[in-house]
This record gives sequence, C-alpha cells and structure tokens, in this order.
Amino acid sequence: MFSSLCVKSGAFSPNHSGKRTEPVSRLSPHCVVGQAAASRFEEMFASPSRQASSNYGISYDGKIVGIVDEDFRSWCTSSEYNDQRAITVEIASENVDPYRMNDAAIEAFIDLAVDICRRYKKDRVVWIPDKDTALAYKTPSNELLITVHRWYANKSCPGDYMFDRLTEIAGRINTRLAGIAEPKEPEIVGKCPYLWATAGTPIVDAPPILPKVLRQCPKGTYTIIEEKDGYGRLKSGAGWVLLAGGKEV
Ligand SMILES: [Zn+2]
Repeated sequence: MFSSLCVKSGAFSPNHSGKRTEPVSRLSPHCVVGQAAASRFEEMFASPSRQASSNYGISYDGKIVGIVDEDFRSWCTSSEYNDQRAITVEIASENVDPYRMNDAAIEAFIDLAVDICRRYKKDRVVWIPDKDTALAYKTPSNELLITVHRWYANKSCPGDYMFDRLTEIAGRINTRLAGIAEPKEPEIVGKCPYLWATAGTPIVDAPPILPKVLRQCPKGTYTIIEEKDGYGRLKSGAGWVLLAGGKEV
C-alpha cells in the first residue's frame, strides 16, 4: 500500500526484505544528502547493488514518491528491528551539515505523517530526542514513535536541521491529528508571510548595506516572513534573500 499523496508510486526498488514481520509502530525520517527531484528516487534505489531503499522519498519541492510498499520492510535505517516496524522516508536535503531541507519538503513530510497516522489508526506521533529513553519507550498501538538513523549507525542522518525541528514537527502533526486548526503565521510586515520560489540565489546575513553572503539558497519554495529594502527574511531562520532572485508564488 502507498499513500494517496504520492505523485507516483511503484515497485521501484528490489532492495527490501518482503513483507513486514511486525506491525507499523514507527516513522523514520532520513536526509537524502542532495536536493533530489522526484524522478531521482526511482533511479537512486533501483539498483540491487545499492543495497538501500526507503518506503517513501520526498523531493526538494515537496513531492512524495512511493518506493517500497508500506507492507514491506525497507533497507533504510541500518536496523532490522527498526525497519520491520518503521515507515521510512528519505527527504531531499542539502549535501552539507546541517543537511537543511526546504520548507516544502518538510511540509510534505508532515502531510505524509498525518496521512500514515490516519490510515494506521494512530492518534499521535511521539518524539523523544534522547535515544535511550526513546528506544526504551513501549509504544502503545495508537501511537507512532519517531526514530532516527543516527541512533543505529555512525551517521548524522537525518541531519541536525531536521533533528532540531522534530519537536515542532511532531507537535504540528499531532495538532492536525487532533483536528485543531494550526495557528496562523504571525503577521509581521505588510503582506508577509507569503511563498516565494527561486531557482537558486545567495542567502545573506541581513540587509541592506553590503550584506555578507552566507551560503547559496537552493532551488525551492520558501516562506518569506519579513521584507526590508528588497530583501526577504526566510522563515527557516537561515537568513535573507534578494527578492529579485526569485518570485512570489
Ligand atoms: Zn538515514
């Protein structure tokens, strides 16, 4: 079975262990280490020599691709125990620490998590940042425990960017599951917040006079929460972008 939220899904990967031996009780987000497009996920996990897979992939622009049927155990988290129980999700990210993910990809992960919880009759997700406490947690049948790859292998996956946001992300998933409307973004300046898309442009520290370039803002759609002197402040806190380097969508 695949989520109906998928833009496409299929048996794209031979890298799995067949049917799960355990019921779904976990959700494991991963970072791809690359701003992958939806079409990349089929190629990425299609090769048997790759010896890796996930149930889902989420592209840099928030498209969800079904790769290994949810009923099957993917090869994703370096743990037989975890992957027999987890729906695993590879999310497009930058390829350097802290493996930032676009807002659109994170929003898609939240949508997918809500959909999974509804279909598996889970009332909430549980996120416990401390590994030992989390792995000792006895997950009731109406909950989905979030687990991360770094607990099972010497990796930073899903990256500090995602790891540091999991408390907020779990809260947003649970708010939606409880049927509570999410609070609106605070109205900061003028028409903000709004969605803005770019094919790539620098991120700077602060406008207006010769702002320092911090890094590249990858292709994607972002939320602008403040405008100043032709620059827009990114909701993620990464910095400011020249608004002429993209357009409102
Ligand atoms: Zn991983």
